[in-house]
Amino acid sequence: MLSRFVNQELVECINFIGGKWIKPAEELSHIKNPSTGLTIARTFRSNALDIAQAVKSAQAVQKVWAETSLRERAQILNQFRGWILENMELLSQTISNECGKLPREAQDGLLKGVEIIEFSMSLPASERLYKTPVSRGVTCEYRREALGIVAGITPSNFPAMVPMWMIPNALIVGNCFIWKPSEKTAMTSLLIAEGLKKAGLPDGVLSVVQGDKVTVDGLCDHEDIKAIAFVGSTPVAKEVYKRATSLGKRALTLGGAKNHIILMPDADKETAVEGILASFTGCAGQRCMAASVLLAVGEVDHIIKTLSDRAKEFQPKINMGAIITNESYIRLCNAIEKAHKEGAKVLVDGRKVTIPKEYEKGNWLNPTILDNVTAQSFAAKEELFGPILSIIRCKNLAEALAIENANPFGNAASVFTTRGDVAEYVAERAQSGMIGINVGIPVPREPFSFGGINQSKFGHGDITGESGIEFWSQRKKITSKWIQQKSNNWMS
Ligand code: NAD
Repeated sequence: MLSRFVNQELVECINFIGGKWIKPAEELSHIKNPSTGLTIARTFRSNALDIAQAVKSAQAVQKVWAETSLRERAQILNQFRGWILENMELLSQTISNECGKLPREAQDGLLKGVEIIEFSMSLPASERLYKTPVSRGVTCEYRREALGIVAGITPSNFPAMVPMWMIPNALIVGNCFIWKPSEKTAMTSLLIAEGLKKAGLPDGVLSVVQGDKVTVDGLCDHEDIKAIAFVGSTPVAKEVYKRATSLGKRALTLGGAKNHIILMPDADKETAVEGILASFTGCAGQRCMAASVLLAVGEVDHIIKTLSDRAKEFQPKINMGAIITNESYIRLCNAIEKAHKEGAKVLVDGRKVTIPKEYEKGNWLNPTILDNVTAQSFAAKEELFGPILSIIRCKNLAEALAIENANPFGNAASVFTTRGDVAEYVAERAQSGMIGINVGIPVPREPFSFGGINQSKFGHGDITGESGIEFWSQRKKITSKWIQQKSNNWMS
């Protein structure tokens, strides 16, 4: 499989079941490199029979895997960690080829994945399950158990990092994992499956089933799959949560976002400009943590002027990657036009972009800044998922917070200020799961967990950190009583 990537041949994104590569019955579509427009892979759709095959291969090994010592499982993850680091270039180039982001951005995502593997590997050292005497001769004890066979469904924008939010934590506690990657960026899944096999993961412990809604529905409906984690857009996250839980499964589904940055007049200009620019342009704005609304409080024109000047200097492929599909690119251009018609001033127009010849067929949109956007307009409300920043002018912090908190999502919110009291005020009141103070992308580092609130997440807990371990496992409570037998004459 690796050789196809190295030789840059057309890749077939097929299933990985029981340690073997198997083509699903139905062909789905193809993947085009967002930077060049060239077709680089064919994709397939798994149906209920393919899923049943993956479940069967997991059933054959799950008990043995769960009985394998925690230390041995951690050692396999450690091998996998090493494999990722050794193959960093191939992995980041593949991610860049299929989802458009710059290779260095892909590498950042992979390193976050490595951080989570390290967290999972630390479980043998950190696991302190509780055992205590509760009355004479009686003890109570917690033991952690795997759920059995579990599944994860991942989005297009982080083909390696988001799966790494799930796979290491699910495996370390003894589950078999069935992964459905995004059909838009399925190539990376082949490399990850290969890497885990090379690391010594027994066949059947990880399966990859390719596909779309049909496959997702099949996973939700399969009665032997005990838990579903999902990351993607809010409407789908809601549907998947409903479908999985209605059938008695444990579910945690992370949805979309509309993240706000509050810019205070006392903010340090350089810190704010760098943080805001990185937030809305990183991965071409196609991140669930990207800020897309700037709540400009009071007189901050000097900061906005520098921000706009820097945004105008961006060059495709050097400062920013491409938009994932041509449909998304057209949708974003239409959004800019619509916002303009609704009265927004286009301070920086990313549609005017000079594209190098070899990338002319790619989906390129430079950073775009819209000023005087109203809180009621669609640009302020909808997740646009591109490098577009909408500025809403606010009289004071109370107005900015009211706008932030009226938005139904709750992934991230940030504030740029030099005042500790303002930072604390925002941290306490902003209705978001992850808060940034002078940080534009407030992704917590492990062991702090990742997860939003409100319409950005359905289900209890977070996807990483200890929450992740809890999600993929169950606790057994054991109460034991041992009575000393009088007949045990060997005791005295
Ligand atoms: P998406 O919702 O279109 O797809 C996500 C997954 O769901 C894919 O595997 C896809 O095949 C599947 N899917 C698509 N439509 C489906 C349907 N109708 N029924 C069942 N399954 C379906 O999302 P995307 O475009 O791949 O990713 C971008 C979205 O993901 C954005 O909204 C972004 O904010 C969100 N996201 C959220 C987080 C987070 O942590 N909250 C992280 C990354 C991405």
